[in-house]
Amino acid sequence: MDLSIPAEDTAAAAAFDRFCQEKIAPRAHAVDHTGVIPPESWRELADMGFFKVHHAEADGGLTVPWVVRAMMQESLAKACAATFLSTGASIGLCGAPLARFGTAAQKQRWLKPIIDGDKVGCFALTEPGAGTDAASIQCQARKVAGGWVLGGDKALITNAPVADVAVVFAVTDKDAGVGGVTMFVVDLSLRGVSRSRPYKKMGLRGSATGGLTFDDVRLSDDDVVGEVGQGFLQAMQTLELGRVGMCHFALGIADAAYEASKRYAMERRAFGKPIGRLQAVHFKIADMKVEIDGARLMARQVAWRLAQGEDLGVLPSVAKTYATEMAVRVTDMAVQIHGGWGYTDDFVVERLFRDARLGPIGEGTSEIQRELIARALLDG
Ligand SMILES: Cc1cc2nc3c(=O)[nH]c(=O)nc-3n(C[C@H](O)[C@H](O)[C@H](O)COP(=O)(O)OP(=O)(O)OC[C@H]3O[C@@H](n4cnc5c(N)ncnc54)[C@H](O)[C@@H]3O)c2cc1C
Repeated sequence: MDLSIPAEDTAAAAAFDRFCQEKIAPRAHAVDHTGVIPPESWRELADMGFFKVHHAEADGGLTVPWVVRAMMQESLAKACAATFLSTGASIGLCGAPLARFGTAAQKQRWLKPIIDGDKVGCFALTEPGAGTDAASIQCQARKVAGGWVLGGDKALITNAPVADVAVVFAVTDKDAGVGGVTMFVVDLSLRGVSRSRPYKKMGLRGSATGGLTFDDVRLSDDDVVGEVGQGFLQAMQTLELGRVGMCHFALGIADAAYEASKRYAMERRAFGKPIGRLQAVHFKIADMKVEIDGARLMARQVAWRLAQGEDLGVLPSVAKTYATEMAVRVTDMAVQIHGGWGYTDDFVVERLFRDARLGPIGEGTSEIQRELIARALLDG
């Protein structure tokens, strides 16, 4: 595995990191408090080419090495994890399956404006009664002449309260099990679509999460993405790359907590010296570094294998489990280092601690990742 990064790639990633620190990070506190990502953040990220680097040139994207993409994602998550999550749901969870399985017409109508930052997408798999057990979704699409009629509820969907378009997974054949699920691209301004208000969440408050209800929504045959009956497989393939994104989400948050803790440990004094010189704090800083570097090595291994076009196997599950649980541990240490002040929103670590908690839940819980890893190891 060659982990060296050419100078021009380092420079491109560094320029994006500067942009994130100068423009996105100063807005993160307000994003958390108002629950809104300012439109200028979407615009500027689009103008910086951040949405393009996730897509092929043939689809209007921009080819950059996987490792640069990884570094850019980490920079954005470090600056504002809520902005990372919402933009990622649009360009990745919604945009990636459209790019991979969509028709030229679907790409022109939906993917292009998502990449250009003009429209927001979401990925609607989870339902009130079906999360981890995604095969038991109840949302249904009934075949009618010339199209489909969609009915049912989706829940816990990133961007649902604000999105223009959704990729929606619905049962089209009740007797076919996972082979009876189909992916549709749904214009959320259609009659019969309604959305919940954004949920009040523990963290990532600027990233609007909500529910979608489809009440006899009329779709055309052209709204099927890929083939009828392939939706479950397509969802799982999309989530595999989503897990890679969650590694960078976790790394960005952990790195921000680590940086803030190093600063605070040398500023805050107790017993006549900076608390960073007290062994208990000293060791926490070292532990944070060990944890982050381990997770980053795994994330870089994923990027390297993607660049080689290699099958990733269970690596995304391994890396996602480690990185997201690492971020929970690291942000917990960061709050502890900040003492009582770490429990107030005067310090960034309070938000980072709350934001990190999504990691072991979203895009497949830690429990289901362990299930997938163990099954692959034991069953071969
Ligand atoms: C902020 C946020 C954003 C989200 N965004 C999206 C989105 O954009 N699109 C989308 O479709 N979904 C989204 N989700 C939903 C998310 O993917 C689900 O919450 C997650 O998959 C878990 O499903 P659940 O909440 O129904 O929990 P459940 O499936 O009910 O799980 C509850 C507990 O049981 C455990 N469990 C369940 N099955 C097993 C098993 N077989 N073995 C061991 N343990 C098990 C789980 O690990 C968990 O600890 C989002 C969730 C949040 C919180």
